[in-house]
Amino acid sequence: MPSPTSTARPTLWIATKNRGKTREFKLLLAKWALIRDLYSYPKLPEIKETGDTFFANAKIKAVTLSQELCGRLILADDSGLIVPALGGHPGVRSARYAGPQSTPEKNRRKLLKKMVGLSGSGRKAYFQATLVLARNGRILGTKSARIWGLITKAERGSGGFGYDPIFQPRGFRKTFGELPASLKKRISHRARAARAIGTLLSREIKITAGKV
Ligand code: IMP
Repeated sequence: MPSPTSTARPTLWIATKNRGKTREFKLLLAKWALIRDLYSYPKLPEIKETGDTFFANAKIKAVTLSQELCGRLILADDSGLIVPALGGHPGVRSARYAGPQSTPEKNRRKLLKKMVGLSGSGRKAYFQATLVLARNGRILGTKSARIWGLITKAERGSGGFGYDPIFQPRGFRKTFGELPASLKKRISHRARAARAIGTLLSREIKITAGKV
């Protein structure tokens, strides 16, 4: 399928203040859209992620912000790490696992501590990303994807963000903290969900341009 020309690319506002995520979305969706994040709108209200699922949280962000920013295309993502041996934790609380004022380092340390004593398949985990595209309070589409791997026993590497230094994707012997960003861009949960959203974006571009 031909990609749209740069002049046809709409601006897509990412509903996040996490620079790590914006960086990844820029790499992933550059062919379809100009990517901006909410740093350009510092006065927007803080949106509480009160949902029990990734979809519920992504929907709250996408719908609320697309109502505030009339006419703009908003992409919200909610993502996290699921460890089945810990009953699905940290899950939707991944960013705040070690408490409301947590840091990525504290979250990783807490998780490694909780997993002391687990080995083999007990260390299996997956990242999930759920993306919701919205405009004017209306959901235009949603996509989810996962990537399975293992939680290592210690941190390795300093690339990526969040739990990357302790997540070793299936089929690899290095963590996302050690592997190149170009690889994560191809295989991650966010990459797979973003590629699927790209297809929806091209449809929106055609609708906006009056071609559909
Ligand atoms: P939220 O989607 O902003 O609520 O936060 C998701 C949290 O899940 C992040 O703050 C990270 O802790 C974790 N997370 C999600 N995706 C990734 C990833 O690709 N690498 C590492 N950690 C991630």
